[in-house]
Amino acid sequence: MKSHMISNKNVDTVIITVKNAVKKYAMPVLERFNDSKKDPYWVLIPCILSLRAKDEATAVVSESLYRMAPTPEQVLKIPLKKMEQIVYKTGFYHVKAKNVLNITKIILEKYKGKVPDDIDELLTIPGVGRKTANLVVTVAFKKPGICVDTHVHKISNRWGYVKTKDAEHTEMRLREILPKKYWMKINLYLVLFGQNICLSVSPFCSKCPIAKWCPRIGVTTSR
Ligand code: SF4
Repeated sequence: MKSHMISNKNVDTVIITVKNAVKKYAMPVLERFNDSKKDPYWVLIPCILSLRAKDEATAVVSESLYRMAPTPEQVLKIPLKKMEQIVYKTGFYHVKAKNVLNITKIILEKYKGKVPDDIDELLTIPGVGRKTANLVVTVAFKKPGICVDTHVHKISNRWGYVKTKDAEHTEMRLREILPKKYWMKINLYLVLFGQNICLSVSPFCSKCPIAKWCPRIGVTTSR
């Protein structure tokens, strides 16, 4: 095995090393929220709110919306202006408030209140993108999917494991090459790894446990 290469020859070792390295970090707050609700609707809505928002803000807003209106029927009764105030802290509140209400209406009217467990079906709902659809099927339904966010996209490219321009292509490539046993957990591992070690700007390469395999593609400054 050549050094500075991450491929399917060593991906098991790399992922297990990452998994062990991130054990000591607290689960992201949003992950904890999703986990505690065990309700596909309450995985879907926080994901809509999380777009370009900090995890912390998304979790606080999701929790207060949940306390105020724990069922889709109750959420739909909230007037648009009020919903805008509720989701304000997550940013882009005009669009997000409208999306939450529209999606809830579709879930109630078209799907009789049951969030679909199929990625392609979820993608037919306006406002639901691939990241959200993958998160819902993996977290809420424990079905295979790969949720590619900014961390998964950036890190798998730094590793040279994929060579892709955007998250959607990363997901497609990972679906081709990543062993299925890692599909559901790769997001959690790489979010924690990206938040604590392989930071978006100036990653901690000097203390990275997988540095000996990583070609650090595209990394210009590191610590
Ligand atoms: S921290 Fe550096 S060495 Fe470690 S995975 Fe990221 S880019 Fe590679």
